Amino acid sequence: MTLPRKHMFALPEGVIYLDGNSLGPLPKGAATRAIEVIEAEWGSELIRAWNTADWISLPTRVGNRIGGLIGAPAGSVATGDTLSIKVYQALAAALKMRPGRRVVLSDSGNFPTDLYMAQGLIGTMDKGYELCTPAPEDVKDAITEEVAAVMLTHVDYRSGRMHDMKAITEEAHAAGAVMIWDLAHSAGAVAVDMVNSNAEFAVGCTYKYLNGGPGAPAFIYARPDIVEAVEPALAGWMGHEAPFAMELCYRPVMSTERLRVGTPPIVQLSILDAALDAWEGVDMAELRAASIALSETFITEAAIRCPQLTLASPLEAELRGSQVSFAFEHGYAAMQALIDRGVIGDFRAPNVMRFGFSPLYLDMDDVCSAVDILEYVMRNELWRDPKFRSKSRVT
Ligand SMILES: *Cc1c(COP(=O)(O)O)cnc(C)c1O
Repeated sequence: MTLPRKHMFALPEGVIYLDGNSLGPLPKGAATRAIEVIEAEWGSELIRAWNTADWISLPTRVGNRIGGLIGAPAGSVATGDTLSIKVYQALAAALKMRPGRRVVLSDSGNFPTDLYMAQGLIGTMDKGYELCTPAPEDVKDAITEEVAAVMLTHVDYRSGRMHDMKAITEEAHAAGAVMIWDLAHSAGAVAVDMVNSNAEFAVGCTYKYLNGGPGAPAFIYARPDIVEAVEPALAGWMGHEAPFAMELCYRPVMSTERLRVGTPPIVQLSILDAALDAWEGVDMAELRAASIALSETFITEAAIRCPQLTLASPLEAELRGSQVSFAFEHGYAAMQALIDRGVIGDFRAPNVMRFGFSPLYLDMDDVCSAVDILEYVMRNELWRDPKFRSKSRVT
């Protein structure tokens, strides 16, 4: 099956959805599955469903499906919790692996929650750790032998700029540091090969390009050869070797599953499992090529027809993820005006209009229509309308 696969998504009539980088749309099968799990499994089977509907192995099954999209071997990806928690766990494990070192290296383009989790963790540890956040282009030079862990987001949430995963991982390893990649804007957006990257850890969320729904569980990858060195900071019973033996002491299971914490969110995991059906048979190289074609057309057309906008993403496709950002002083209001006309993107402070391109449900006609509407909004200065200026809590 080729791309796009619009028939698999329940997109509202009259909407061009360019915000799948923030919250993917509803896959049709996900709604059916949610009702089935709630009524037939939970409703009828009650607690028996852990066995009869095999809820107990759902986190592992879903982890393996995500693994297939990021070049990770079976059994190396655990699911559950939210991405913030997974960042905390990966960093805590990495710091334990390098006890003599005291620097956590990230960058100033990282998503705030990743930095907050690092700050919270090193504050609790109280061992003199320091979090360094140089500009993204200066990260490589900041990798020294004091660095315990390099913790970066692969694709920048604001600009779409993409780090060179393999090259930075190599630098980190050459200096003896542990590498952690956040794939929030990479999984389902660009081709990722965890095995080839050789990084120790990767984390990500599933409600963006993977379309798992609001609050969908996160994932964490640990390189198989280091799993036994991972000492979970959040030693929950679902990461125990024998959860139902109810032992008094923690004994981690000999797999990435030791990075699970508590009871898995079965309804959300089932929705995600159904959402992943849209990825069956997708060739990530083909997806990437389609994403580049859509993004390039958008950039080229918008540059010609909307001179008020300044490209805030790398122009070169290889340096960009699957989103395009434009800076504009009245970006918030302009985005509201666009949304009012059916083109949904989003806004990130201070002035960035973001547009995500998912080839699963977007084609070139969508991109051309979106540019037409963008041009109309800009040419007629619709952003001047006061009704587009009052900010909602979520932008
Ligand atoms: C979206 C995103 C998050 C969100 O974390 P949650 O715990 O799922 O709310 C974290 N980090 C990055 C890099 C993101 O893009």
